Formats: sequence, C-alpha cells, structure tokens
Amino acid sequence: MEEDGAVAPPSTRESNRLRVIQSLQLLGVTSRADVARHTGLSRSTVSTIVASLQAEGVVMDGDSNHRGPSGGGRPPALISLDPGAGLAVGIDFGKRHLAVALADLSHRVLAEDRREMEDDYDAESGIECAAELVERVLAEADTERDRVVGVGMGLPGPVHASGVVGSSAILPGWAGTHAAERMSEQLGMRVWLGNDANLGALSESFWGAGRGAGTVVYLKLATGIGAGVVIDGRLFEGAGGTAGEIGHTSLDETGDICRCGSRGCLETYASGTAIAGLLSRSLGEGLTLEDVLTRSVGGDPGCRRALADAGRHIGASVADLCNLINPERIVVGGSMAVAGDVLLDPLREAVGLRAIPSAAEDVGIVLGELGERAELLGAVALVLQKAGPAWSGTAPAVKKATAAN
Ligand SMILES: [Zn+2]
Repeated sequence: MEEDGAVAPPSTRESNRLRVIQSLQLLGVTSRADVARHTGLSRSTVSTIVASLQAEGVVMDGDSNHRGPSGGGRPPALISLDPGAGLAVGIDFGKRHLAVALADLSHRVLAEDRREMEDDYDAESGIECAAELVERVLAEADTERDRVVGVGMGLPGPVHASGVVGSSAILPGWAGTHAAERMSEQLGMRVWLGNDANLGALSESFWGAGRGAGTVVYLKLATGIGAGVVIDGRLFEGAGGTAGEIGHTSLDETGDICRCGSRGCLETYASGTAIAGLLSRSLGEGLTLEDVLTRSVGGDPGCRRALADAGRHIGASVADLCNLINPERIVVGGSMAVAGDVLLDPLREAVGLRAIPSAAEDVGIVLGELGERAELLGAVALVLQKAGPAWSGTAPAVKKATAAN
C-alpha cells in the first residue's frame, strides 16, 4: 500500500478504505451513493475504493433479492461485502426465551433458532443453552465455526461497558456476572454484549422503522422501560455503556421508591409491571402485562385507560429527551407496542405539549417494524458494528477469547 501516493497519503487512503468497509458492514446490501452519504466521502472517492475492493474480491455486486431482514426497494447497482467472507452470530436472551441467528456480512439471515426458557433462568444455564443453539444454526447453515467473526449477545437490563451485567429485575440471576466473557469462553469466539434497548435501536435504525433517519431513539416498552440512541448509524452508549435509561428519569421526586433506589421514576408509573399492579386492584392479583394487552385489544376500558395514562407518562420523559437531543425519529418497540394508538396517541400528545415546539415538530413517533426479532437482529448488527476495524478484507481471524467491548 505504499506505492504511488499521488492522490492522498497512504494513511488517508487506508482510513478511507476502512470507512467504506465499515459502512458496508453496517449497511449490508446498499448503493455507492448510500455509502458516500454514510461515510461523508465524495461519490468519486467511494467509487474508486469500491472498484479496488471489487478487484480484490472483498466487495461484490449486491443481490437485490436479499436486502437484509426487512427487504424494501432501492435503486439498482447494489453492492455488498462478499457474503462469504465472514459470519455474525446474534443471541437474544429474553425473560422467558432464548433466540439465536446466524447472518452473513451482507446481512442475510442464514439460520435462526429459538427456545422457550424457564422463568428467571440463571446465567450458566442460559449460556450453555445458547452455545447449543449456536452449534445448531451453524449446522443448519452447513458452515464452519471459524468463519464467525463475532457474536453479539443481548440481555434485558443494564450492561456496563466492562461486560458486567448490572442488577436487573428482569433476569436477576445474571446480575454481577461477566456474561460476555463466559459466553466467549464457552464458544471460543469474540463476544460483544449489549442491552436489549440498544440492540433494538441498532436493528430498527438499520432495517426497520428508523431507516434513513439520522438520530433515532428506540423505546423498549415492556416489563421495564429502556431506550437506545443511534446517531448517524452509531450506537450512543455514554461513558460506561448505560446511556438511555429513560425508565429511571424521575417524574415526581416525592413518588414511590423505584427498584433503582430513586423516587418517582417513569418505570414506577408506566412499566408493564406498574400497569399490571395498578389494574390488579380491579381485575385481580396475578394479572400480567400480556393479560392487560389482550384485554385492551378486546376493548376493556380499564386496561385501555391504564395504557393511555402510561403513554402520557412516557411522553413526559420523551419530551425531555426531545429537548435534550432533538431526535428525528422515535421508534416504539417492546411487547407494549401492540397497544398501538391507545398508547401512542397520548404519548405523542404529551410530547407535543411538553417539548419545545421545534423539537416536537422535528420528531416522528412511530411503531417499530421488527417486533420480537428487533433484539436478535440488533445482536447481529452489534457484531457488524463492533467487529469493524479488525476485519479488513482478508479472511477473518478468530480470536479465542477475552472480549466484550
Ligand atoms: Zn428508577
């Protein structure tokens, strides 16, 4: 790479080349124009780099039949990284399920598997079970494990950048474990850990309802409430990886004590747990969020009112978020999203009333498109994002080991 430095110094050429490769990792099957937009490089620079990557066999003409999980049409002349150059594994650990997906570098999902788990399964059994499912998807796709460039794993609840799982009421048995390191030991692969809201933010902004928007916030509304922020295709994680804990913004400093130790957090008003608790007075103990959602769809006025009130409370916190970071799109996901406009209309109304007018006008608040696959696909996206600089077009080296951010 040192010969003929006529146009730009080798370091700049190398870094531009890397930016194009990283951009293709994030965008999957895409056009040169999109790569130019995404990297900020000129179209002619992108075209030159793509031509040389094509000559090396790193970039291929894209197959318009597989544009990533959500499909969708765009102009012709699509390109992608050579799908055969590596594979990414995504693992989603939910409260009662475990899902694994295997995708190639053009973002095509090759195999997927899912298993129902016992309530509150611990880290050890979850990790062992995930390793089994990874072997199964590799076998199903008839591929070798040394082609995997990395593994993304998603967990509900706070995840510190060190890879240690924070305390979470959703999977309490995982608190304090170094989950990514354990997964990495188990699989002999590099592993990155992300929380479920961050992963939903990544997948919805790449392939779902956040496509094409610069600043995207994903709201995960379920048993708990979390948010993930993606700015220009990159996850914003904050200093320690816990950015986006919107569920613990305080609405009332004299309110109920929250599981985080503070008072009057949004979660104490509007989480699935809070809503079910509120309705258990009129509908009986043991009511779950799923019950509330089913009854709401069936027209139950109390359940609809509880979801509408939750929407208004969530809107109050979202309005503050709009004032702070001025997002272009807010994508609402998580199991509560099935409530649709019963939840979203009051949420939008509260944002309109409480955010400064320009921030409220800029934001579109929409339902997510990827449903329960959002976290799983986000775990794949995390690999495509994090594995970036290590992969430069040659066969990916598999690192046994320490990992996690
Ligand atoms: Zn709290």
